[in-house]
Formats: sequence, structure tokens, C-alpha cells
Amino acid sequence: MVSIVHDRSGSPNQPPPLQDYNLFESDAALREGVGRYLGDPGRLSTLGKAAGSPGVIAWGFAANAHAPELRTHNRYGDRIDEVDFHPAWHDLLRVAIGFGMHATPWASEEPGAHLHRAAAFSVWSQVEAGVGCPLSMTYAAIPALRTEPALAEVWEPLLTSTVYDPNLRPAAEKRGVLCGMAMTERQGGSDVRTNTTSAAPAGSGGEYRLTGSKWFCSAPMSDAFLVLAQAPGGLSCFLLPRVLPDGTRNAFHLQRLKDKLGNRSNASAEVELAVAGGWRVGEEGRGIRTILEMVNCTRLDCVIGTAALMRQAVAQATHHAAHRSAFGKRLADQPLMAGVLADLAVESEAATALMLRLAHAADCSAHEEHEALIRRIGTAVAKYWVCKRGPVLTAEALECLGGNGYVAESVMPRLYREAPVNSIWEGSANVNALDVLRALARTPATRDAFFAEVALAAGGDHRLDAHVARLRQDLEGGPAEGQARRLVERMALALQGALLVRHSPAAVADAFCASRLGGDWGHAFGTLPDGVDTAAIVARHTPRAATTSP
Ligand SMILES: Cc1cc2nc3c(=O)[nH]c(=O)nc-3n(C[C@H](O)[C@H](O)[C@H](O)COP(=O)(O)OP(=O)(O)OC[C@H]3O[C@@H](n4cnc5c(N)ncnc54)[C@H](O)[C@@H]3O)c2cc1C
Repeated sequence: MVSIVHDRSGSPNQPPPLQDYNLFESDAALREGVGRYLGDPGRLSTLGKAAGSPGVIAWGFAANAHAPELRTHNRYGDRIDEVDFHPAWHDLLRVAIGFGMHATPWASEEPGAHLHRAAAFSVWSQVEAGVGCPLSMTYAAIPALRTEPALAEVWEPLLTSTVYDPNLRPAAEKRGVLCGMAMTERQGGSDVRTNTTSAAPAGSGGEYRLTGSKWFCSAPMSDAFLVLAQAPGGLSCFLLPRVLPDGTRNAFHLQRLKDKLGNRSNASAEVELAVAGGWRVGEEGRGIRTILEMVNCTRLDCVIGTAALMRQAVAQATHHAAHRSAFGKRLADQPLMAGVLADLAVESEAATALMLRLAHAADCSAHEEHEALIRRIGTAVAKYWVCKRGPVLTAEALECLGGNGYVAESVMPRLYREAPVNSIWEGSANVNALDVLRALARTPATRDAFFAEVALAAGGDHRLDAHVARLRQDLEGGPAEGQARRLVERMALALQGALLVRHSPAAVADAFCASRLGGDWGHAFGTLPDGVDTAAIVARHTPRAATTSP
């Protein structure tokens, strides 16, 4: 007999909201992955429980419903260049910073600090992804800043502090700071060599005066920014504080905020640098190299953020299908829907496995060459592929909820609108695909490290073995630029397949290898081949909510 589920308002066949669940504990792929690399998950379970509580879920909705507002001037006509946020935005950031989802791994002696942070970032991004932007840029600023020890000495303790201190003051008076980044200009974002912002030396001590405009500058309420500008010696990186050490506001003028497709809780501004004070970070003329230290970290966060969006979309879809019936049966028990859900779940688990592997590489790369090489090649591969899969997965997951999925209250439209941005910023898809070719050509050891990594799963699945053999052959010739996407996609599938074969339940690994590597797959989700254990996969990816469990 089919039971019709009533939610608390008594509506027939309307699934209850997914709340009162633990986003960490109920995510088997994340929980097991953390256990694999870290053992002790630390405070992740506590965070996961908070993230699934109705009050915190409401913060995510409120921060989106009340978008940030720009206030350029005060009542007297003086420039203030401030952005007003809803209190929910501050609540989300306060918890995240208190937990250490920003730069704290750099100050930590704990092994696995980057992976622990990655897992936390993944959990919290599922509440609201917008706050991931300032968290990520603050995390990523440290390696770049360390190229200038005198600046790092002042700023690093503030960047790694777990105090959220949004008041605009000079660094010396702050208890914690956030950092943003301004590279992109109107004429070019991928090709930052075309930057026209100028930097004129202003006395000794590495101080400069920056003049020009930046076309995208997210989290503009941050305390400082890493900025690229043309110095006499070429394109260079600068630290630009919003308040100068003497307490005056820097000439960092917010012209307007972008009206964005998604990522609406976060502000992204157009900025005019009207002879602003900045301090050089790294050598003159080495700006791209310096800021790439930052971009490598933000690219990892794009992968984590997308894996998180995918997980939340799958959690919502499996939850809905577990509670909604049609044609006399629960949706999850309808064979065709089970196939869709399982296919989505496999994609989500592959993304989670890859992001955790790369976070582990971030933990170990300072001491282990293999890990440094995997980090180099794997981050670009994953930034390309995982971020490409985000939008298609969220679109299909949305449809699992039928019409309810198209309605904002379901959270699915927010996930769908958010998904494309991770593929655009921090190097768009083509830029990352070309970066993989560059790494292979300039550092051939990355190729060896890649094959050594996937070889760890050799013999585990014949489809994976055959895929890797073909890939090895095709990489021999030095792939053509126009084929970069095809190549990087296959590299990503090899990495994901190897991880799933080694670590995931047989049903998940089998479904991945049969479809993504074995060629027995259609062009949409829900086209897994016959014989896949879809019920086991769907059960693994269905969250158990306290309010809905029997
Ligand atoms: C919401 C949001 C927030 C952002 N925040 C920031 C920020 O805080 N700081 C900041 O500096 N930037 C920020 N950006 C800008 C972002 O980094 C750039 O938009 C991105 O790097 C692409 O640059 P572009 O927009 O100039 O596009 P272009 O560089 O013009 O690229 C257009 C397209 O061409 C492709 N392309 C470029 N070069 C090649 C090539 N050689 N071969 C093949 N294809 C190529 C790209 O992949 C892309 O698809 C933000 C963007 C968004 C959407």
C-alpha cells in the first residue's frame, strides 16, 4: 500500500522540508573521505548539525532575499564606499570565521588542517555559497602575502584570526580582517597582462600609488585587496588596505555593485582606484606569479564549492523522491527516477572524492613532491571538470522536485543560479584546460605524478584500466590546444574513477566506470546502463532528517 506523507501543515503528498539533519553525518561520501584522510572529524559533526537547523537555513534565505546595498556617500557628500548587508550575512560569516573556514589552516600545527577546512567549507557552502567568496579569498591571500615577509608579519595574524570584526578601521586596530582580490579589468580578465592600472613608486618601504579601475572586485567590504597593476618594472602585485595606517580611507571607490545571475548575497563591485595607497607584494614585474599563489587556492575552493552545491542538490532531490509519490509509488522507487537520482549521486560522489583528494594534496604538498605535483595538475583538471558539471547537475536535480523545484522556497533555484560562477571566476574553463596543457609541457613530472596516482587503482576495474591506457597513449604526442577540453575531461574522469574504485562502495564505482569510462551512457543524467544497483546508490545519498525519520 502507498502511504501519502503529510507535512506538518497536513498537505497531502508534499514532502516535508529538509531540515533538522546533519549535513556532515548524513553525507556518506564526505564523512568517509574525512575519515580516510584525517581519522578524527573534529568539530565537523557539530557544524553539520548547525548547518541543518531551521534557523541557520533561514539565514541563507534571508541573506539572498536582502541583497547587499552600496552606499557611496554619506549625507554630507563625503565618499564612504560602504556596503550594507543583512544581519544574516554577518551571522553566516561570523560562524564560518569562528570555525576557521578562512585562513586558519595556515596558522595551524594540526595535520590535515586544509582538509578539515575543506570539509567545513563544503558543509557551510550548502547553507549559502555567497559567503564562500570572502572566506576563500582570505584563505588564498596568505601564500601570496608570504612572498613579502614584512607585510605578512602584520597581516597574517589578522587574516588567520577567528574573530569576525567587520568594522572599518586601520589594521593595527582590528582583531580580524578579510582580504579580497582585484585583477580583472574591463578589457580583460583572463589575460591580465592587458591590465592598465598603474602603480607609481611613492618613497621607500615598497609603497606605491595606484590609479585605474577594476571591473570585478568581489567582497568589496574586505579590509584589504591583492591588486595587479603596472609598475615601472612590469605587472606587479600590491596589497591595498581599505583604511590606511594613519586612519584615513584609501582612495578605493566603489562605483556600483553588479546585478548578478546568482551569488546574490555576496557583493561584487566595480572599483575606481583614484591614486590609492598600496604596498608591493613580491618583486616588481612578477605580479602574475605572485597572485597565482592566491589563485591556486581559490581554484581549489571553486572545486569544493561546486562539490558542495552538487551534494546539496542531490540531498534535496533524494529527500523529495523519498517522500513524494506518483502513480501509486514513491518517486524513489520508480525505476526511471531511481536511475536519474543514482546518476546524479554518482556525479556528486565523484566530485566530493576529487575535492577531498586535492585538499589532502594541499596539506602535504609542502613536504611531498608527489603531492605538490598532484596539486598542480589536479587542481586545474578538477577546476575545469567539476565546475563544468555543477550547472548541469543542479538543473537535473531541480527537475526531480517537479514544479516545486522551480520555486525559490525549495532552494533549488538558488543552487542552479549559483552553479555557473565557479566555472567563470578564478580562470574560466578554457583557461584552466589550457593551464593543464601548460603544466604538462613545462613540468613533465606532473604527467608522471598523474599516472602514478591513477595507477593506485590499477586492476580494480577493467574499464578504468582501458581508459587510462588510452589516455597515456594520447598524451604521448603532446595534445593540440583545440583538443584541451577533451583531454582534461578524460584526465578528470580517470582521477575520479581511480578514487571511486579505491574508496567507494562497489555500486558507486561500478556505475561510474560503466557509464563515464565504459561508454555505456547517454547524453543526459538518468541513462546509466542496466544492472547498476541504483537502489543502493540512492539510499547512500538520501539524507536522514530528524523531522522525517520514522
Ligand atoms: C560574480 C563574479 C565575481 C568576480 N569577482 C572577481 C574578483 O573579486 N576579482 C577579480 O579580479 N575578478 C573577479 N571576477 C572576474 C572573473 O575572474 C573574470 O570574469 C574571469 O576571469 C574571465 O575574465 P573576463 O570576464 O574578462 O572574460 P574573458 O577573459 O574575455 O574570457 C571570455 C571567454 O573567453 C575564454 N578565453 C579566454 N582566453 C582564451 C584562450 N586563450 N583560448 C580560448 N578561450 C579563451 C574564457 O574562458 C571565457 O570563456 C568575477 C567574476 C564574476 C562573474
